[in-house]
Amino acid sequence: MSTAHGLILVVEDERHIADLHKLYLSKAGFGVHIETTGEGALKAARTLHPSAILLDVGIPGPDGVEVCRILRAEGIWTPVLFCTARDDEVDRVLGLELGGDDYITKPFSPREVVARVRAAVRRSERAVQGDDETITMGEVTIDKAARRVTVRGQEVVFTATEFDLLAHLMSRPGRIISREQLLADVWGYAAVVTTRTVDVHVAQVRAKLGDASPIRTVRGVGYGAEPPGEQQGGSDSDE
Ligand code: CA
Repeated sequence: MSTAHGLILVVEDERHIADLHKLYLSKAGFGVHIETTGEGALKAARTLHPSAILLDVGIPGPDGVEVCRILRAEGIWTPVLFCTARDDEVDRVLGLELGGDDYITKPFSPREVVARVRAAVRRSERAVQGDDETITMGEVTIDKAARRVTVRGQEVVFTATEFDLLAHLMSRPGRIISREQLLADVWGYAAVVTTRTVDVHVAQVRAKLGDASPIRTVRGVGYGAEPPGEQQGGSDSDE
């Protein structure tokens, strides 16, 4: 069933859109499995172990946001690329604590979908391969091999994207990285789509780390991570 590029689970209740996704994802070398309902999506995600899920938010219940929440609660961290049709759907997706990894807004171009799916699959592969480094900043420690984050020895659950974002910043202590660069490095594409994605994920990482967060904002520039002792006094941090 899967191909060299991996299997993509496409969840979309509009048959012609689903067929279109299948057409160009297959052309790009992916295997494609289509589901049209939330129930079907859950079953397929649990049994087929796809490399990524292209998940329409507006599907017969449970809807896309619920499906992602349920999978995360079950410990299934397959990258999810949400397809949203309206702004209120975008807000729900961004507000989702256990994160979708990315979202695109309808109407979308086949090229954009393929690029995003590819980036999501790359992220999941990277997640499997990992890296055996452990980095500590103040009270926060990340274990890149296990992809675990601990604060004062207590594990904090991170989504794949939140982990990649924190690991990227903590691997480059003291360096301030622009939102655009973070999109390119962490999400894997350099589109102008939305730097809001970065802000939302940084906010989620900070919320999880609380006052132990090493992330610093430089207004108008970007984000960086620094050990607490080395943070510059009188900085322009807006935490
Ligand atoms: Ca739909």
